[in-house]
Amino acid sequence: FRTVLRELPNIYIDNLAMSPSETFPGSDPSVFHKRYLKMIRVLGEGHFGKVTLYLYDPANDGTGERVAVKALKQENGHVPEGWMKEIEILKSLYHSNIVKYKGCCTELGGQVVQLIMEYLPLGSLREYLHKRKLCVPQCLMFAQQICQGMEYLHSRRYVHRDLAARNVLVENEGLVKIGDFGLTKYIPEGEIYYRVREDGDSPVFWYAIECLKENKFSFSTDIWSFGVTLYEILTRCDHRQSPPVKFSEMMETAQGQMTVLTLIKLLEKRLRLPCPKDCPHEVKTLMEQCWDEDPEKRPTFGSLIEKFEAVRR
Ligand code: ADP
Ligand code: MG
Repeated sequence: FRTVLRELPNIYIDNLAMSPSETFPGSDPSVFHKRYLKMIRVLGEGHFGKVTLYLYDPANDGTGERVAVKALKQENGHVPEGWMKEIEILKSLYHSNIVKYKGCCTELGGQVVQLIMEYLPLGSLREYLHKRKLCVPQCLMFAQQICQGMEYLHSRRYVHRDLAARNVLVENEGLVKIGDFGLTKYIPEGEIYYRVREDGDSPVFWYAIECLKENKFSFSTDIWSFGVTLYEILTRCDHRQSPPVKFSEMMETAQGQMTVLTLIKLLEKRLRLPCPKDCPHEVKTLMEQCWDEDPEKRPTFGSLIEKFEAVRR
């Protein structure tokens, strides 16, 4: 018995010595080396930076895996704080309806940061809906999956703040994932909303009335944006029916000039996006509940999931 005890520390030390990170300091799977990244094509460009498809091929024989790499738009040589936040958030999330973070690639002593994600071959939901005519049941399946990812995000106390079809990615005809966490903020337990301070061109037509009026973001403002995303899905992201186009039409008849103030006035008059053509009645009701002027009266993602399950049955 005594000998076993005496041997234990040795075993422990041996195990430590055997751990791959000790033996090969460069083998951390979340560290990607730039020299092995082979560019395939640009996937998209948005608010925070450019997303490019690469082959990560350490063996240099074309057998590597395809990854999506998001490189930030550099502002005077600094990595913006929001960018590091996006990485930290993505790193901590594990859900089948949230895009998977794979790692980071840093260069020049951390001055340039690239976020490595799984590559979703069918691109954003907006592009996908343009190419394929989805039937209503498939639309509702995607909507439910977005709710599932969002319910998880909220359970982790994050508010997305930029939920829209352009920020949902398509894995295959039966699976979508939420991406683009650039605007996500963490809400400490006990606090109901987060107030934005920074300005910038915000996606106002997806925003709840209290976001526009007071810059208040909360779990219920994500629900509002989900309602707009649901509208986009059911209009199959048709440009002529897009939220900006539809709201601008309403503004023209009402005020003339298109500003955030006129948008607020429209919403205060209870004007909302119209019901998409083949939208089932129950789903129209859900959409309207998401756009209730009273944030308290809006549903939660949990209750939306149950409703979608019932409608799809
Ligand atoms: P931004 O913060 O710049 O808006 P996004 O994360 O929304 O960046 O990405 C911009 C575009 O790049 C998306 O609309 C999509 O077309 C494409 N894209 C982003 N991530 C991926 C991915 N993991 N797989 C495939 N395409 C992607
Ligand atoms: Mg985006």
